Amino acid sequence: MHIAKRAHSPSGSEDHLDHRRRNILACFLTAALGRDAERDTPEACGPWGKGGKLGTGCPARHSGRPGSFSDWDDFRLAMIYDTSLAGIAPPACASSFKVVGWRDLYVMELLEPLIFEPLYMERVWGGRRLESVFGRKLPTGAVIGESWELVDRLEAQSVVHNGPLRGKMLHELWTDHRAELFGGVRDSERFPLLVKILDCQEVLSVQVHPPAQTAKLLKGEPKSEMWYVARAEPDAEIFAGLQNGVTKERFLHALEAGSVADLLHRIPTQEDFFIFIPSGRLHAIGRGNLIFEIQQNSDTTYRVFDWNRTGLDGKPRALHIDESLQSILWDDFEPAPGAPAGERLVEDSLFQVNRLEIDAPRDALTAVDAFGVFGVLRGSVRVGTATFGPGAFFVVPHCATNLRIEPENGTPARLIKTTLPVAC
Ligand SMILES: [Zn+2]
Repeated sequence: MHIAKRAHSPSGSEDHLDHRRRNILACFLTAALGRDAERDTPEACGPWGKGGKLGTGCPARHSGRPGSFSDWDDFRLAMIYDTSLAGIAPPACASSFKVVGWRDLYVMELLEPLIFEPLYMERVWGGRRLESVFGRKLPTGAVIGESWELVDRLEAQSVVHNGPLRGKMLHELWTDHRAELFGGVRDSERFPLLVKILDCQEVLSVQVHPPAQTAKLLKGEPKSEMWYVARAEPDAEIFAGLQNGVTKERFLHALEAGSVADLLHRIPTQEDFFIFIPSGRLHAIGRGNLIFEIQQNSDTTYRVFDWNRTGLDGKPRALHIDESLQSILWDDFEPAPGAPAGERLVEDSLFQVNRLEIDAPRDALTAVDAFGVFGVLRGSVRVGTATFGPGAFFVVPHCATNLRIEPENGTPARLIKTTLPVAC
């Protein structure tokens, strides 16, 4: 697929202009009108017939220079002016978009990224650090282990909190506005990422997610994930893979003896530690970690050992021994922690993660980014009119090519950015 060069003014080729114009208009119109502008016909739209004049009475959101519009895109833009001129309440997006320049009339700029409502999940191993460390407002008294920052599943949906798309579910955005918001990514029924913050006050169960082939046999879904340690207590650790030479037989004996933990590869963690956990890798997060987790959108987890404890209901949680034994990669010995290559932390066909040090303003998206899911690790940043501190997540959609990230008050900040590879 051709990736259009991103530019702040439409000075590129006509092809490029048209591509941008279409995407951005669709983004804007959908937000403004709350319906698919493609379905409206010129005849249905009052005095602004196709090929008409863009009057001088247009709202002051553009430079005000009148001109003619002759193609469909121009006309659709005029419809917006029509609705606001007709005394209908201004489009919901009026404060969230602006139009820049005349030649740039087509270029609508998002004034802030998308913010989604977090979904807080009680977990037996959770705590309150989302509140004490990140200033989140948690349900009173609950032991919160997970905050789902971005999810598109049948049982859980992220909902937009701000701007013209407020109230929309992630699944609607993915289904109805994919190209404008998420760019040319691979097709899938649901948004393919699940983004969480984990507050692990106790060790999590030892588990595995099935590799693709095994997942088919077991009727589950594969799940690769990446953990980025945002904060760690002094004795924090994670478990990933097997110790050198551990065989399936030895593992089975240890399972019966309740001593599986002795065979796992332990890695001490500290702030900024990260590791990629592909499907099939045995893993557990130890206590003391506050983690940003990026994963495939899947919920197939086979729990092989739960440290002999009980769940929130006082009963032991179910184990999935057979499925686990089929899913574990038995030659996955002592995997190394992640090591950055420049800004790139994870380069995978499923997702890409970068770490950004923000000490000067920069574009939120690069020329090749389809979109970006950002999580703030340290410091605060300003993005358009919004400010984000530690623990905050936001999404810069494909069409918001104008948005820049700058350090708040000139103090450097650290973020991770996740995106999907662009489909070829
Ligand atoms: Zn997992």
